[in-house]
Amino acid sequence: LSELRRDPITGRTVIIAPERLRPMSPPVVAIGGDACPFCEGQEAIAGREILAWYTPEHRVHGRGWRVRVVPNRLPALRVESHYGDPRDSLFHTLGGLGAHEVIIESPDHHASWSTMKPEDLWLTLWAWRERMRDLRRDIRLKSFLVVKNVGAAAGATLDHPHSQLVALPFVPQHLEEEMASARAAHLNTGACAFCTVIEREVGAETRVVTKDAQTIAFTPFASRVPFETWVMSRAHSAAFDEQTDETLGLVAERLSDTMRRLDVALGTPPHTVLLHTAPVGETDRASYHWHLEIIPRLTAESGLAWDGGIHINPVAPEDAARYLRDSLRS
Ligand SMILES: [Zn+2]
Ligand SMILES: [Zn+2]
Repeated sequence: LSELRRDPITGRTVIIAPERLRPMSPPVVAIGGDACPFCEGQEAIAGREILAWYTPEHRVHGRGWRVRVVPNRLPALRVESHYGDPRDSLFHTLGGLGAHEVIIESPDHHASWSTMKPEDLWLTLWAWRERMRDLRRDIRLKSFLVVKNVGAAAGATLDHPHSQLVALPFVPQHLEEEMASARAAHLNTGACAFCTVIEREVGAETRVVTKDAQTIAFTPFASRVPFETWVMSRAHSAAFDEQTDETLGLVAERLSDTMRRLDVALGTPPHTVLLHTAPVGETDRASYHWHLEIIPRLTAESGLAWDGGIHINPVAPEDAARYLRDSLRS
């Protein structure tokens, strides 16, 4: 039976409708190939190195990197965004202001978050954080967005593992709304809505995929799509770029385990990962809590209505969490 669920943080209403479950789309055929600009040896094509992590003994002629950040070559046209028609997109209002960078997450073309070691995944989180710390010194920039699209069905144009960091001269609507809801909840209850949700999820366990004292992976109560999964650091903190190396390490381990579960359970599904973090200079540190949202693209519905429409999700998050908990048992 269908159920209307209200998200406790944003107030967004979702329809959980198991009877609408349809067969999953076939796996995405590999795209890319020999001419991949992000592979080791193609550094000149990928572009100017903004930041990289090298294994010192292997650093020869630009090779030997383990993570590498370059500018997006066509920032205004190449954006892989959820925010509707690209012709309306925020990038046309930037007038050159802002940043759009590509994090090449591994020299290995075939690596993925579920096959990378947690310490290699840590390097990706490290690169996001270091770039944000650098970019936030530009006082014109107001917010950050990190988007990782995997698989053609999720909008990725290259197979090589990569993510995109966008720095904007304003706060985009989705973040503004999430912040406003969180602020209202904080005013009402005196507590961070995200911390409260984590506490309840830990207590109930039905939607917890995995957890420990520092981090948690869970399927949100009002999941928008089947197997939507959030990964969070349990310690309250508003901004990603304030996280320590140690916290990033714990999050990398949780992420790596979660992606392995999703890949095993769902057959390496196309998906999007979003990092939500407080705007630059946000003075209210108490109500917002940074987090990672993993959005698998399994059904036709999952591509729709990302800008505030009503989502119809055919898989209850409790079933998704149970499935993911059991997925690595054999
Ligand atoms: Zn490649
Ligand atoms: Zn919190």
